[in-house]
Amino acid sequence: MADLSDSLRRLIAMQGPIPLALYMAQANAHYYSTRDPLGAGGDFITAPEISQMFGEMVGIWLADVWRRAGSPARVIYAEPGPGRGTLARDALRVAARFGLVPEVHFIEGSPALRRAQAEAFPQAVWHEDLSTLPEDAPILLVANEFLDALPVRQLVKTPQGWRERMVGLDGDRFVPVSGGLPMDSAVPQAWREAEAGAIVETSPATSAVMGEIGARLAAQGGAALIIDYGYAPRQMGSTFQALRAHAHVDPFEAPGEADLTCLVDFVTAAQVAQAQGARVMGIAGQGGWLMALGMAERAAALAKVAPDETEAAYHRLTAPDQMGVLFKVLGLAGREWPDGAGFAPPVPVS
Ligand code: SAH
Repeated sequence: MADLSDSLRRLIAMQGPIPLALYMAQANAHYYSTRDPLGAGGDFITAPEISQMFGEMVGIWLADVWRRAGSPARVIYAEPGPGRGTLARDALRVAARFGLVPEVHFIEGSPALRRAQAEAFPQAVWHEDLSTLPEDAPILLVANEFLDALPVRQLVKTPQGWRERMVGLDGDRFVPVSGGLPMDSAVPQAWREAEAGAIVETSPATSAVMGEIGARLAAQGGAALIIDYGYAPRQMGSTFQALRAHAHVDPFEAPGEADLTCLVDFVTAAQVAQAQGARVMGIAGQGGWLMALGMAERAAALAKVAPDETEAAYHRLTAPDQMGVLFKVLGLAGREWPDGAGFAPPVPVS
């Protein structure tokens, strides 16, 4: 099998440094297509793999919005990057109790993970991207830790002005270098005067996906939950990182052998979907959102069977110093669709 590091080295030797976005896209395409990275024996663990409670709350949320939208008979469940299918399994098991039994559509690039998903959902339909999803029914879309894997572009301030951050070679090692072309016009006015070394990170790939989700919700109706680690408001600086065997490693060390991610810029993600006609319900911290959905009550019930495990999972998913605040939930809706639970501040009852 051709080694990705070698082919990237050849490419750079031939044509010079490559954009960081290309490096990240190539590395993750290789990474995800050659393994199941999730769980204790893998590189990282995600909320649905920590506890069934996570998917169950998502399922309750979906069923609630769907019912208040009038329980449309035909509805599409669409999940980009479903991993092992665990979130869909837990969410749709609960949703079915409320009468919501949607058609299941997965957007997945990795053959290895498609196989795992087919075990949980043999009847699912798979897509390479969102463009081939059905157009004739409302969409309930859920994405957990999908956007963080999409490539980012970085611009760096040099003494000569703003340049694209590229990946070059120092001997055999991959190193970040700045490109030759002036990029000042690509940097928002407010940040242009930043000090040398400053970095602005954007994700055209994330914006493309969010634009498509927004347009689908506007045209077909439905609702979406985008869950990931990220920030709001906007911020400067690089968030490019790599995870391998549950530890942070150098993202330039072994492309294709570690999970390369960036934090999600939630404000831009929401605005891009809104510009395509979707309604933004809000951006909530994961901990508060899960509690608003009733996870404390669910945990109390599960704790009767497995107290230690449930307590640990509850803490990990909701505590502010764990996944409760860094992880965020963005809620979107089609124009005629109602708001979902967990976003608006509670109405005071006097
Ligand atoms: N949502 C799952 C898995 C998260 S890992 C969970 O929470 O456990 C990221 C997922 O996105 C994997 O399924 C990976 O194969 C998929 N993925 C990453 N980049 C992708 C791309 N460019 N196109 C399609 N799927 C992608």
